[in-house]
Formats: sequence, structure tokens, C-alpha cells
Amino acid sequence: MILRLILGDQLNETHSWFGKSEDDVLYLMMEIIPEATYVRHHVQKLAGFFLAMRSFARTIESKGHHLFYIRLDDPENRQSFESNIKRVMTKFDITKIEYILPDEYRVDRLLADLSDRIDLPCSSVDSEHFLTRREDLGDFFASKKRMLMESFYRHLRKRDNILMDRQSPVGGQWNFDKSNRQTYDASIPIPPALEFDHTATEIIDMCRKMNINSFGYIEKDRFIWPIDRKQSLALLDYFLENGLPYFGSFQDAMSSESWSMFHSRLSFSLNTKMIHPGEVIQRTIDYVESSRKDIQMNQLEGFIRQILGWREYMRGIYWNLMPGFNDMNYFEHDRDLPKFYWDGQTKMNCMKQAICQSLYFAYAHHIQRLMITGNFALLAGVHPDQVDYWYLGIYIDAIEWVEKPNTRGMSQFADGGIIATKPYVSSANYIRKMSDYCAHCHYDHSKRAGERSCPFNSLYWHFYHRNRGKLEGNPRITMMYRVWDNMAEEDKRDIVQQAERYLMDLDAL
Ligand SMILES: Cc1cc2nc3c(=O)[nH]c(=O)nc-3n(C[C@H](O)[C@H](O)[C@H](O)COP(=O)(O)OP(=O)(O)OC[C@H]3O[C@@H](n4cnc5c(N)ncnc54)[C@H](O)[C@@H]3O)c2cc1C
Ligand code: SF4
Repeated sequence: MILRLILGDQLNETHSWFGKSEDDVLYLMMEIIPEATYVRHHVQKLAGFFLAMRSFARTIESKGHHLFYIRLDDPENRQSFESNIKRVMTKFDITKIEYILPDEYRVDRLLADLSDRIDLPCSSVDSEHFLTRREDLGDFFASKKRMLMESFYRHLRKRDNILMDRQSPVGGQWNFDKSNRQTYDASIPIPPALEFDHTATEIIDMCRKMNINSFGYIEKDRFIWPIDRKQSLALLDYFLENGLPYFGSFQDAMSSESWSMFHSRLSFSLNTKMIHPGEVIQRTIDYVESSRKDIQMNQLEGFIRQILGWREYMRGIYWNLMPGFNDMNYFEHDRDLPKFYWDGQTKMNCMKQAICQSLYFAYAHHIQRLMITGNFALLAGVHPDQVDYWYLGIYIDAIEWVEKPNTRGMSQFADGGIIATKPYVSSANYIRKMSDYCAHCHYDHSKRAGERSCPFNSLYWHFYHRNRGKLEGNPRITMMYRVWDNMAEEDKRDIVQQAERYLMDLDAL
């Protein structure tokens, strides 16, 4: 009998493994303590993975597949991939082991080592999920100086004929990013987030019983994210109808009125592979072509770029830079992550909003992650390991292959500029322009120093000042140094002193 291992983020019903049921195949799924504790996960993330895994198990069993499912609190659970596989090998007449290639480096190494040790033939198959192979990005950029997302994205648009009119991009432009930086226009109603209604009590009780340490909230044990393919497709359809018409325009906008704005919230469904990126792209294009709504090109292209461009690019970068990526710390940052990242107790309203909604929903949209919490951590010089640890735990969609390039690379510039051409930092100016947060803040967005001056302002200049040696040569930053150099000496001194006071006690901000 062949034993086929399915990991918790491999819930892909459309994988060719499940084409027809075979009597000589036994599928194995397991919930194990190391996977629930390699980082401190948000309680909704734990609930989401276990609920979705159990739902997937029911689905494949209903299709006639043989499955051995090990629950976390099963007294027979040996709590590791290897020991559980060995236990199943003794129970059934297993002659061969197969697994789907994992997306995380840690698990990839673990299964490769296990294959070497186990006394049976072991082989792996592709996940059939991504639009590119692990090594495609490295191959594509082999002879190029920079690994720019935009070049890889254009290559994939041409390769797969997506939004193309022969050799030219539909709409005459590859990228509509310039139209996608609008501030939220309050006359346009934000669609309420589509919520599903699952109870997570059993999972939460089980995690408690097994001493799994988590954080974050789950109101009345109600889990609102999709846990199967059908619900994931319903969320996609809801997004197309309600979010897509304004997606691109307000992609970067933040408002205390809404935690999800016009975003799709499809990342959990995609990262667990309940849905396929190719089908999301095709369904989106079909929707726009058949819709009577006049959906502008900047909305459509903006969304396709996230899936076809950023998602595939980040995965390729991950495989290209691992395992060395883990140790990158370009600015040699070493401060601790402030305590308020874990409880949202800060006087900075932008941080409070982004962190509290993450604690309540295990979700923040891209600009909240990049330009609020990520921006602050970078300005404050927090060690990238601690920043990674927080991002990997708190978000429902956080799996290392996509979390790390976004956090350590894009947001913290710890790779020294492989992903981003300059650090994503900003003062209060940007936050005030793109959100309503500053209007209700203890701090004054217009002040750079002195009582109640916004910490983002002094920390912003302090960041450039202290990192001059590493950044001055970057042509995209020259302008900022010119502004700094033209400031009065007294102002510069006040700003630096203010930043140093704030840095001495970040927890008090
Ligand atoms: C510091 C930081 C950490 C992040 N950590 C994660 C993470 O752990 N897991 C994760 O899936 N995304 C991560 N992202 C990327 C992005 O923020 C999320 O994919 C997005 O917010 C998910 O919400 P959504 O589904 O509503 O996305 P939408 O805005 O609706 O976008 C649609 C889809 O495009 C894809 N996408 C968009 N941006 C990116 C990106 N930069 N990288 C990869 N895919 C992208 C996602 O699959 C997303 O579901 C991170 C970004 C930053 C700045
Ligand atoms: S004033 Fe500063 S701290 Fe307050 S919300 Fe604005 S940017 Fe954030």
C-alpha cells in the first residue's frame, strides 16, 4: 500500500492525487504539537488550520479515498511527522511513501531528511498549486542585475497570455499603480466583510488541553473565515461583486471604519491551497468581461498583479534566498519588539488600529502591515527575527514562504535591497494622507519634536540620519538627504534628541 502524506497547507481537492480513489493508497493527515508551536500562533490561525484540515478530511473521505487522520489530542499521537509515519507503517502494509513538496524550507528539509532515514522508497510530487516552479525566478533573473517584481510579472503576463493583446498589455500599460494610491472617498460605501459561521469551541478546548500557547481573540469561539473550497469560492465571488470595482483605487487606503476595506481576504484560502491562483485570475477576468459594471482597468490589473505578480515573485524570492535569508539583518537592528505589538496598548492611534484589528481578526491589509506596523518596527530598529516572529504568528495567512520575503525583505529591508529598491519608511505625512488615524491620535502629526510630537516623524529622520552610510548612495534616497541637510542645525538636533528619547522607552509610546 502507498502512504501519501498531506500537510495542513495542502488542502487542494483538485490535485491529481484525488482524481480517482485507489484501494492501494492510504492518505495520512496529522495535527502535531511542533506545527502548532513553532511560533506562537493567533488563536484564529490555529482554529483555521485545524478546521480546514478536518473539513478537507471529510471531503476526500466522502469521495471514497482511504484516510488515516490523527487528531492533536489522540492518545496514540506521537507528535512528530516521523514517529506518526512509523506508527502508520507498522499498522498497515506500507510499501512506499509519497508526499507533496512542502512550501516551507523547514518542512522541506525535515521531509527530505526523513526520506533518507526511512527504510522504504520515498518520493515527492509537485503541489500543482503555483504558477511557477520554485527555481523559475532564479533562472529568470540569472543574468540580470536586479530581481525586480515588475520584470517577473511582465514575463508571466506574456508567458500565460494574461491581460495581453498579442505582445502588448491590454489598456496600453503594464502597470496602473499610479491610479492605485487614492485616499478613501467616504461617499463610496465599503462592503461589509463576508463572514462564515463556524464554531471553534472544540478546537480551542483541545488546544487548551494540550497546552498550546496562542494569543489574539476569537469572539464567542466564532470562526469567520472560509474552511473549504466552496466557501473560498463564495468569498471570491463576493469580492468580485463588491470589492473589485474599487480594489485598485483604494488598495493603499486605510480607514478606521473598516478592517478589510475593498480587499479580497483570499490569502488564507489561497495559502492553504483550497483555491488555485490560476482559477482566481481566470474567474476575475471572466467576471469583468461578462459584468455589466464598468470595471476599470486599474482595478482589474491591480488585483491580477497581486496574485500573478507579487505572490509568485515572493515565493520565488524565498526559495532563491533560503536558508541564508534567515540571518539577513542589513541595518544590524537589535531592539526588542515593543510590548504593544502583543496587546495593542499604545497611544499611537495608527498602531493601535492596525494591531487591535489584527488581534481581533488575525488580519490586516497590505498597507497596514507595510506602512504602519512594519514601518514602525523598521524606524525603531527592531531585530528582524522578532519582527518575523510576530508576523508569522499573528496573521491567518502567515506561512513562512510568503511571510518572510514580505517581512524581512520588503518591509524591514533586511536583505539590503534585493526586493525593495529603497526602505518602505514614512513619517506621519503619508499615514495622515492615506488614513483617518491621525485625526483621533494622542500625538500631533504636524510636530517633529517636543511634547506629543508624532513618533513617526522624529524616528523617520533618525532612521535616515543613523543609516546614512548604508543609504546615501541609493539614488532613490538622495532627495531625502538633501532635505535633511537643508534643515536648520537646531531643528536637526531637536529631532535626533526627540527620537532618542522615544527609542529609550518604546513601550511607553
Ligand atoms: C510585513 C508583511 C507581511 C506579510 N505577510 C504575509 C503572509 O504571511 N501571508 C500572506 O499571504 N501575505 C502576506 N503579506 C502580503 C499581503 O499583505 C497579504 O497577502 C494580504 O494583505 C492578504 O490580504 P487579502 O487576501 O485581502 O489581499 P488582497 O489585497 O485582496 O490581494 C489579493 C491576493 O494577492 C496576494 N498578495 C497581495 N500582496 C502580496 C504580497 N506582497 N505577497 C504575496 N502575495 C500577495 C495574496 O494572495 C492576496 O490574497 C505580507 C505583507 C507585509 C507587508
Ligand atoms: S499622529 Fe503619528 S502616531 Fe498618531 S496616528 Fe498619526 S502617524 Fe500615527
